Amino acid sequence: MGFFDCISSDPPIEIFRLTELFNNDKNPSKVNLGAGVYQDENGKMSTLSVVRAVEQSMAQDLTLDKSYLKPIGQDSFCQACLELVLGKQSSSIIENRACSIQGLSGTGCLTIGLKFLYRNGYKIGYISSPTWSNHGSILQSIGFDVKQYRYWNKDKLNLDIDGLLQDLQDAPENSVIILHACSHNPTGCDPTHEQWQQISDVIKQRKLFPFFDFAYHGFSSGDLDQDAWSIRYFADHQKHELLVAQSFAKNFSLYNERIGHLMGIFSSTDIIPKFRSQLTTIIRQIYSNPPVHGARIVATILNNPTLCLQWKDNVRAMYERIQSMRQLLYTKLKQLGTPGNWDHIITQHGMFAFTGLNSRQCQILVQQHHIYLMNDGRINICGITQNNVDQVSKSFYDVVT
Ligand code: PLP
Repeated sequence: MGFFDCISSDPPIEIFRLTELFNNDKNPSKVNLGAGVYQDENGKMSTLSVVRAVEQSMAQDLTLDKSYLKPIGQDSFCQACLELVLGKQSSSIIENRACSIQGLSGTGCLTIGLKFLYRNGYKIGYISSPTWSNHGSILQSIGFDVKQYRYWNKDKLNLDIDGLLQDLQDAPENSVIILHACSHNPTGCDPTHEQWQQISDVIKQRKLFPFFDFAYHGFSSGDLDQDAWSIRYFADHQKHELLVAQSFAKNFSLYNERIGHLMGIFSSTDIIPKFRSQLTTIIRQIYSNPPVHGARIVATILNNPTLCLQWKDNVRAMYERIQSMRQLLYTKLKQLGTPGNWDHIITQHGMFAFTGLNSRQCQILVQQHHIYLMNDGRINICGITQNNVDQVSKSFYDVVT
């Protein structure tokens, strides 16, 4: 009898199972609208030109070594991240109330941020319904009592702002509220500025703690300042204390480098050394210190005005491709006379569209049409190309008629 004879497997994680099914499918016309990875017009994931250039020059630089970083990461990277998110003129930066630390992409930064909150007495976490499936899982694994606030109005195919505000109104004080700063995953529905103001008011009035997940900076509007509006409004305008977990997986296409940062904004500068010290302990216990390669790439680009402009162009180009594929899919669906209102395909933001297709229709798409999408109807718009859009739209038409 072995020690582990009695253990069971965990339920499969949908996105990995879907990717495996896609990889095993021998049909040459299969289409992957599943995993949230940017693909170009040829359906390929490629390295950004500015990242490639920086990596080439790093390879020649004999001064770069592979020594350990501090647990909280590289200073030049962290300072550049603060300015990227908040803008150089931010009052939180000028008043020295903002602090960033390097972490393992969005997932890692969410995890260490939530661990920090939990050890300081925050025990209830609210996530949007629906949300990225890992939010609930991470909160639960840390020990949080996980609750949901309404987000998606499935009849109107848009944001349920009244439900959202009501649920926040009813949340107990000191609850942590996970918010998607832009490009909400999976719905693609971002609050308007007025709606963010309402959300901020309830959060302040109810003494809730906002934690922004910032995984798609640049993908909602193509403009990095505009996409940071919600965070800047909360931090600088409304003087909230808050955390932000930012991923550079998507907007730098550095998925497997695991690079991101956790930003904290506090009521006073005195909190910062305590925050850094607690995060040092938390990180030390989990992975001791972060990898350097992604941090060097991001810091080099953000700290060099010419490279930074090139990166912004790269982000803008990704955004524009997404927008043009939204428009193309929408036009094809309309041309076919596909029943239903498809306006949300062009009004939603970011990498994903929440199609409104039900799980039965999604299963038919996977099993009979070789079109791979999440069971909740979420599609990655980047998976659409000029070559496959006719097949995708015709298949959508077939499953809804
Ligand atoms: N948050 C959201 C909403 C996401 O969609 C993702 C990735 O898909 C992440 C966070 C974290 O991604 P990563 O850990 O790869 O940076």
